[in-house]
Amino acid sequence: MTRIIADKCKLCRREGMKLFLKGQRCFTEKCALSRRDYPPGVHAQKRAKLTEYGVRLREKQKLKRIYGVHEAKFKRYFQEAERLKGNTGENLMMLLERRLDNVVLASGFALSRNHARQLINHGHFTVNGRKVDVCSFQVRPGDVITPASKEATKKIVSEAIEVNKQQTVPAWIEVKADALTSRIVAVPRREDVPHPIQEQLIIELCSK
Ligand code: SF4
Repeated sequence: MTRIIADKCKLCRREGMKLFLKGQRCFTEKCALSRRDYPPGVHAQKRAKLTEYGVRLREKQKLKRIYGVHEAKFKRYFQEAERLKGNTGENLMMLLERRLDNVVLASGFALSRNHARQLINHGHFTVNGRKVDVCSFQVRPGDVITPASKEATKKIVSEAIEVNKQQTVPAWIEVKADALTSRIVAVPRREDVPHPIQEQLIIELCSK
């Protein structure tokens, strides 16, 4: 498993927006961005205006950081998005949304994206009854995601659901909290993606 180890709040401050990398803390006044809304680093506040290239690069970095994807993997997603029919930018967003770690998080089954990845990597989830320990697994409509049948796993997921009970679940995922089950009811659409990303800028950068 590859992980982004940098101080997560610094990543948000660098991008000037909430990337929601620390679970419920991101919704409280403890969020570092609400206290220090400027980039990290001694000279950060003196930085020059971004070039056109810089703006596009920052947009790509935001997207990679939100979904916890490294450059090599991101390139593969971009190539796949280009290969698929339709708008490349929307395809890219859909491929990222359909990652299993994103679905576990969006279903409220984990406390943060890193937590979701850790649970998946340790074999705590099944898709259609079969154990899947690959975070980048692409879910499809009809897939059912449930915790592995161990009591310890169910307890972890139940606790996460309780913590996340105010969270809005996207329309393409149907969660039955009592049964600890999440079902994919549709392919996600662009408007289902909650992040304010201008994917067109990323396409302009990566297409060169
Ligand atoms: Fe970003 Fe705020 Fe969450 Fe830290 S607490 S990861 S700054 S959104």
